[in-house]
Amino acid sequence: MATGIDVPTVDILGVPIHQITERELLELLERRQAASQRTWLVTVNAELVIRARESREVAQTLGRADLLLADGSGIIWAARRLGGCLLEKLPGVEIAEKLVKWAAGTGLSVYFLGAKPGVAQEAAAKMQSKYPGFNIAGYRDGYFGNMEEEEVVAEIRGLAPDILLVALGAPRQELWIAKHFNELQVGMAVGVGGSFDVWSGRVKRAPAWMSDHGLEWLYRLATDPRRIGRMLALPRFVYQVVCTKLTGR
Ligand code: UDP
Repeated sequence: MATGIDVPTVDILGVPIHQITERELLELLERRQAASQRTWLVTVNAELVIRARESREVAQTLGRADLLLADGSGIIWAARRLGGCLLEKLPGVEIAEKLVKWAAGTGLSVYFLGAKPGVAQEAAAKMQSKYPGFNIAGYRDGYFGNMEEEEVVAEIRGLAPDILLVALGAPRQELWIAKHFNELQVGMAVGVGGSFDVWSGRVKRAPAWMSDHGLEWLYRLATDPRRIGRMLALPRFVYQVVCTKLTGR
């Protein structure tokens, strides 16, 4: 875990989630930005925890991030059971939007990397009309091959954005950031999953009543049944949390 961040964590099946509210997070990021400290954020949901349990590479990658945030009802539920603590839900799409809003208020620049061709550009334009004032450092789709990877990194390094949003899906975006964070001249990097699809209007988020009842997964499954394979991580997550609670291991 990177040093310099004095925020308690709660262990969710081996992944240390920071106990931080949205307000505290934004204040912390402002302080770090003012002090020229670079920050890599990961928003962690139940599916990513299961991926970290299955893959040492993913687990080690998460261990290198500066801040691991509670993205989703599964993590909130597990934190209450395993750590007796009440976490604030910090969905990636909302944190990413807060970063853009902050950038608009302060003139910081944002690079949009990921999603299908045209989507990052559209997402950036939508955000700019909602939050005028931030500087679009650039955008690029997330369907590049290994041969183009160096070119992508060189472009971002050359532009040196304050904030890099990476929408390649988890854990690919986390592995990508881990691989390139040191060479990229970005102040802050965060994996934002399907946020560009949402901002561009291609994908709708679950209605509030469903999110409030922890049913985002059901909405996503109903609107995109191809996610069924990935969703099998959820019952496994619940089972492993219950076992850990019962056995204390
Ligand atoms: N994506 C991408 N490159 C790839 C695979 C996926 O840019 O090689 C994008 C995809 O178009 C989508 C996002 O990554 O915009 C993943 O969205 P999803 O909702 O699956 O994210 P998650 O559930 O991980 O938040």
